[in-house]
Amino acid sequence: MTHVVTDKCIRCKYTDCVEVCPVECFHEAKNMLVINPDECIDCGVCVAECPIGAIQSEIDAEPIWLEINSKYAKKFPRILEKKMPMAEAEVYKDVVNKEKFLNENDE
Ligand code: SF4
Ligand code: SF4
Repeated sequence: MTHVVTDKCIRCKYTDCVEVCPVECFHEAKNMLVINPDECIDCGVCVAECPIGAIQSEIDAEPIWLEINSKYAKKFPRILEKKMPMAEAEVYKDVVNKEKFLNENDE
């Protein structure tokens, strides 16, 4: 079992989550973070750290997010330290259904 980052993170990337993960399994794609499902120990510590509730258990998340987290974790580098959120984070933090911006991660 794993936790996954969902669309709420897209165009935000507050990155509070990375500093609490005991196994350092967050990766940074272009406009969202993802969790490596093969490394996550399902502790749930990161859930409360996310200011916008972007992290869910795979049981509660739509199946696409497990797929996306797995795919992007293989493609993008690990992130170990908190950094500044994306410039547009304040505008996009309350936007729903941000899946439409997903392809930006593949560029
Ligand atoms: S804390 Fe939430 S919004 Fe920030 S990078 Fe992690 S998952 Fe994304
Ligand atoms: S659930 Fe635990 S191991 Fe998995 S990403 Fe969150 S903090 Fe890391």
